[in-house]
Amino acid sequence: MTNAKPFRILVVEDERDILEMVTYNLRREGFRVQEATSGEAAMRYLATDDNVDLVLLDLMLPGASGFEVCQLLRQDPKTARVPIIMLTARGDETDVVRGLELGADDYVTKPFSPRVLIARVAAVLRRRAAQAPGPDEPLRVGELFLHPGRHEVTVAGEPVRLTQTEFRTLHVLMTRVGWVCTRAQIVEALHDGFTDVTERSVDVQIVGLRRKLGAAGAIIETVRGVGYRIVDPGDAAEAPAGA
Ligand code: CA
Repeated sequence: MTNAKPFRILVVEDERDILEMVTYNLRREGFRVQEATSGEAAMRYLATDDNVDLVLLDLMLPGASGFEVCQLLRQDPKTARVPIIMLTARGDETDVVRGLELGADDYVTKPFSPRVLIARVAAVLRRRAAQAPGPDEPLRVGELFLHPGRHEVTVAGEPVRLTQTEFRTLHVLMTRVGWVCTRAQIVEALHDGFTDVTERSVDVQIVGLRRKLGAAGAIIETVRGVGYRIVDPGDAAEAPAGA
């Protein structure tokens, strides 16, 4: 990927080898890269530079952890919207869930290939550049179409009958195509003070959705131990989560 105006990326990583590998590959792709080897250094840097487009954040850092950095970035209005991709240890789904719930946008599992990392960075920047859909905006992913105002779902033009909770679950996922939603995030989005939705019942909604959507249900991907996401079948450039 080459950019007319290069994107600026802050890489926060204390392991020298990984830092060098990441930095080298990002620069080769035309990104401008700033390095930080601790959470404190990252926070200091972000206090002086308003133009960081994305933060690659290792979770295991000396001093302030990646979680703390993530939380601080989200609390500060200046950095609240900067995309964060976490670098996590393989098999640490609990860390991934915690990070996503603290406001990280995506994650890459170590060890990762430069190709996967670059693809994820590009995907996050692309999704962030796209306008977030409004709450009443009709949504389409492949053959699946959802109209919030009309409470209507069709697959290849054929109507699909969903329960209220199934419909809202699908709406949450379709509003955030490509992003992983944790169960707790889905529960929060569904909460209206009347319906009693638990994290376990999210799984039940997904089973129902997949069954009713038929072949189109395959776009709802289970991210094991983390949650769910909808993958646009047209988005072939994107590597699966944790690959
Ligand atoms: Ca580390």
